[in-house]
Amino acid sequence: MKYPIAFQELIYYLKKLPGVGTKTAERYGYFLMNMDEEILQEFGNAIINFKENIHHCKICGNLSDGDYCDICQDQSRDISTICIVETSKDLFAMENIREYRGSYHVLNGTISIIDGVTLDDLNIKTLYDRLESVKEIIIATNPTSQGETTALYLAKVLQRYPQIKVTRIAHGLPIGSNLDYADELTLLKSFEGRKEM
Ligand SMILES: [Zn+2]
Repeated sequence: MKYPIAFQELIYYLKKLPGVGTKTAERYGYFLMNMDEEILQEFGNAIINFKENIHHCKICGNLSDGDYCDICQDQSRDISTICIVETSKDLFAMENIREYRGSYHVLNGTISIIDGVTLDDLNIKTLYDRLESVKEIIIATNPTSQGETTALYLAKVLQRYPQIKVTRIAHGLPIGSNLDYADELTLLKSFEGRKEM
């Protein structure tokens, strides 16, 4: 037996999401079928519109509603410290530990030698414009091989700025894991135990 075309189509797109196989997609499909028409309409609109309405902060690359993100607009943040993360998701994980009051720079990716992605392909140019008054840069890329490679390249490039102390978050995080999967205490310990590169 085959599902109606409209349902098949829905399943096809649901399966594009990470971790969603046929069974899960079917389950979501049935769930959506029973959802209130109005909410479904809003859900659809949110999907259509969100890309258009989400911007990358012109200073740090974080996701934002406008040209600049909330953190870059917050006068109380210390701009002499920059924490470099891979994605906005990692930035949110760092924010959740409520310890860090500096600013961020979001690379929006990692170096990948296999895929030919270099540092210049990442959101890096705007970082150089910010370095004048910076005292410390904390490299908080993930403890994966790509994250470590990116950290090494960054540290090398930042050697050109001897006035900046470059630190790397400690290895309390399991190798191969992501910042946003770490529990807050582990991430806090990793942050506090950061070492100079
Ligand atoms: Zn920003």
